[in-house]
Amino acid sequence: MNKTDKASVSVRKILAICLIFIFVMGIGVMATNAKFVNVKIILSSNYEMTVLTAKTKIADILEENHITVLEDEVVTPDLEAEISDNKTIKITKASEVKQQVAETEESVTTEEILQNYNSVKEKIIVEKVVIPYETITKEATGEGTKQNKVIQNGINGLKEITYKVRYQNDIEIERIEMSVKVIKEPVNKIIEVRTIQVTSRGSERVATTNPALTASTVLAKSVEGITPIVKNFNTSAYCSCSKCCGKSTGITASGARASAWYTVAAGKGYKMGTVIYIPALANKPNGGWFKVQDRGGAISNSKLDIYMDSHSSALQYGRKTVECYVYEP
Ligand SMILES: [Zn+2]
Repeated sequence: MNKTDKASVSVRKILAICLIFIFVMGIGVMATNAKFVNVKIILSSNYEMTVLTAKTKIADILEENHITVLEDEVVTPDLEAEISDNKTIKITKASEVKQQVAETEESVTTEEILQNYNSVKEKIIVEKVVIPYETITKEATGEGTKQNKVIQNGINGLKEITYKVRYQNDIEIERIEMSVKVIKEPVNKIIEVRTIQVTSRGSERVATTNPALTASTVLAKSVEGITPIVKNFNTSAYCSCSKCCGKSTGITASGARASAWYTVAAGKGYKMGTVIYIPALANKPNGGWFKVQDRGGAISNSKLDIYMDSHSSALQYGRKTVECYVYEP
């Protein structure tokens, strides 16, 4: 044998050994291949991949596929665990897990708040309340000129009310009256009412002219803005003597001192201060302008009594039915 032959023998030997080795390896691989399973791996980016592996430990499977778990990532099942029946490995961001936990905690807190909100508290409250007095009227008896007269002033009373008050979240939702205790009874206000008969003033008409606008006396000027009514009066005259008045003070029912050619007495249908113009007396010192300042027992609403400074003047005047302009204040 030469050197070349020896070498070719060695090469053949090596090839044969290699072939055997490859064959054995192939059988080994095929044997192992029987245990291979498909595993689904879901990455934190939601990327899904399916790998074929013979490994069963999670950490090994990931390592085999060059997947590195970062510090803020969580693997399900655990790295040290075996692959479960669903053959799935899920990698999620730890912050997302925390957030889920946080959301759960928050919902619990909301429930607690709701529970607090629903909690109802009860309190007993005592309040003092004014009892307002009532006003009652009574028909007046006997003589009198005042139409309404207060004969007893009203005084408010006071009571103590005990309530059971229910609060929800510090807001009053219900109030139940438990008891009432009157501390002070109210005193009624009593008003005496007198019906005063006001006799009809007879036929009156609204004047079409206003004599006050053309007159020059102070009294006329004072009633320029009033539209007069026109009416016929039965007029007579009186003085301050005892024959005319019974007493002779010269003080009128209005309290003013009577003045000749100024003061007239009229019925109660005409207010004190009413100004009366009598055209038939326009040539007199007052220009015919008078003021109601007096009353008289015999003076009805259809009569006027003109005050004069002497009994003789009054007698001389006699009785006259005259047209009058009435200016009511
Ligand atoms: Zn007289």
